[in-house]
Amino acid sequence: MSNLKEVRGIGIKGLSLLKKLTINNIEDLLAHYPFRYVFLTKTNLQKATNDEIVVTDGTVETIPTINRFKGKMSRMVFRLNTNDLVVNVVIFNRAFMKSHLRIGKAVTVIGKYQPLKNTIIASEIRLTKLEDALTIEPVYHTTKGLSNKVLFNYINKALDNHLDELVEYIPLDIKNKYNFLSKKEAVKNIHQPSDVEVLKKAKIFLKYEELFLFMLKINYLKQTNRQTPSGLIRDINLAKVEGFINNLPFLLTFDQKRAINDILKDLAAKPRMNRLLQGDVGSGKTVVAFIAMYANYLGGYQSALMAPTEILALQHYQSFLTLFKNINIRAALLTGSLKAREKKQIYEKIKNNQVDIIIGTHALIQEGLEFYNLGLVVTDEQHRFGVNQRANLKNKGVMPDILYMSATPIPRTYALTIYGDMDISNLKNKPSGRKEIITYLKSMSEIKAVLSLMWQELNKNHQIYVVAPLIEESDKLDLSNINFLKEKMTLAFGKKYTIDILHGKMDNKEKEQIMNLFIQNKINILISTTIIEVGIDVTNANMIVIFDADRFGLSTLHQLRGRVGRSDIQSYAILISNTDNERLKILTETNDGFKISEQDFILRGQGELFGLKQSGDMGFKAADLKKDFKILMQAKEDALNLLNNKEFDTNIEYKNLRESLMVLNNLD
Ligand code: ADP
Ligand code: MG
Repeated sequence: MSNLKEVRGIGIKGLSLLKKLTINNIEDLLAHYPFRYVFLTKTNLQKATNDEIVVTDGTVETIPTINRFKGKMSRMVFRLNTNDLVVNVVIFNRAFMKSHLRIGKAVTVIGKYQPLKNTIIASEIRLTKLEDALTIEPVYHTTKGLSNKVLFNYINKALDNHLDELVEYIPLDIKNKYNFLSKKEAVKNIHQPSDVEVLKKAKIFLKYEELFLFMLKINYLKQTNRQTPSGLIRDINLAKVEGFINNLPFLLTFDQKRAINDILKDLAAKPRMNRLLQGDVGSGKTVVAFIAMYANYLGGYQSALMAPTEILALQHYQSFLTLFKNINIRAALLTGSLKAREKKQIYEKIKNNQVDIIIGTHALIQEGLEFYNLGLVVTDEQHRFGVNQRANLKNKGVMPDILYMSATPIPRTYALTIYGDMDISNLKNKPSGRKEIITYLKSMSEIKAVLSLMWQELNKNHQIYVVAPLIEESDKLDLSNINFLKEKMTLAFGKKYTIDILHGKMDNKEKEQIMNLFIQNKINILISTTIIEVGIDVTNANMIVIFDADRFGLSTLHQLRGRVGRSDIQSYAILISNTDNERLKILTETNDGFKISEQDFILRGQGELFGLKQSGDMGFKAADLKKDFKILMQAKEDALNLLNNKEFDTNIEYKNLRESLMVLNNLD
């Protein structure tokens, strides 16, 4: 497509403003769809009721008169002839328009009609007549310095001169099937709709196109993945796996067993595994991953487990050592606190096959690490995926199997699209014997009651997490910070109990020490920022107190709450907040992460939940996953049919689509 500079009227300033809207080429510009429309129809004033918002055009009958008041304010009045009648028009603070409002000038007036006074209190006056019975005006998201009108002009110019350059992806058979507009018609009409009907058709086409291309890509990846010859086949000693399972200190849940079966099948079969293990906090994903890693080891390959934080990596490492203490399997921990020399040693060992299990953070494992024969990658608590995301691991040509674990319970519809190229195993039930976490919502004035609940648990030798949004005092925000809370908690409990803090600015050694002390029950109250949000597992901690809970999203709060309720002792979450309690109430009503994430989704929009704003991978421009589920399913079916159609590889009709898929082959 042509360069944005070639659109008439866009200068250097325009280019930089458009860039702020991430419009970098003509395609982007044309795909900057209006987010709403203003519908202007001429009102029949004879039938309008008192205070109705009316739109009418007519000609100016009298020279406007202006009254000034309160210094800068003004009130301008003139008479307007609408053909049917003559009305008074009043408009405030628009005195500068007077010179344009000469007698006989055709204008359009929008405002509130007061029939008894025969007056329109105008909010807007335009210096043109209404064109048709109905005018539909697009309204765009824009940026400071770029008005809707100027942006619309740019788009109009692009439509005039560059519309033909747009690529038609949707093949004729599909267009005929649904009686679709062409891409060009759709794009033209989304910006300049002549009527409501055609606007509807334009919207449907653009949504469909977007979802169809997405589904085609996802399923193409899935199919090519399946055909990858370099997927691993292993011989797994199932008796040993079973032996390990039988020696666990607990019985696996039905869902855990099923997930393990899914994974063992994947590991034994030739196609590359690409599986998501989805389960609410506390559902026991880790042990499933460990068993997968053990099976992979028995099959002769190395495994890597990537965690989002150092603390979590450390904890996984420790629980791995505990669970495998009677088994001869070599594990290494890769954290940022290792000295350069130690790190180098571990790297060497990994390369020379002297380590079977590598546990570390995402960053550490992806950065330049060379494996001997990596057969399985497990990614913990990673919620951000897109079509384009593939782990970047150096691995001598073998394609490792991949297992993602996520606690963000994603509503089925979205999971389907996001993880469309993955298989999914669900852990729906928590290990038996778990009690529902009791959640209270308290205000700051009820702090005494909170402290006494804390006393109760401490006296039973249970541990407590306290979470606050800030580390240090801030003048701007009146929020609880963890240093302040440490003082207060020490005043309340310090004589009898040990209190300490944990936050992201500490160095890794410190973090490790604190975490270890907490695990060993040598710290009774751990005050922390949300760095404990993901994964931490200390079963003796059965209470979490969250200050300024209104500062957090519902899903975050649910994750935080998931730090407790990890054994058969009754657990409690106390949310402290003086505002926004309507929203927080849902947490007191349900422990179901699925319901909570759906609420969060509604409140925060699809972008944030998935972290798409950063990645841009899935930023749909026309489609809305929440509303367009039917179109999505249809698009999926059509995409699958097309991929299975023998002619897809040869017929000229599908050339553009084939080219759109070629890009994907260069990703790994
Ligand atoms: P998550 O799914 O949130 O990552 P974890 O894997 O950390 O959950 O498991 C939570 C806790 O439950 C851990 O202490 C783990 O040892 C324990 N656990 C896992 N599976 C079972 C089970 N089947 N029965 C009892 N406890 C279990
Ligand atoms: Mg976990």
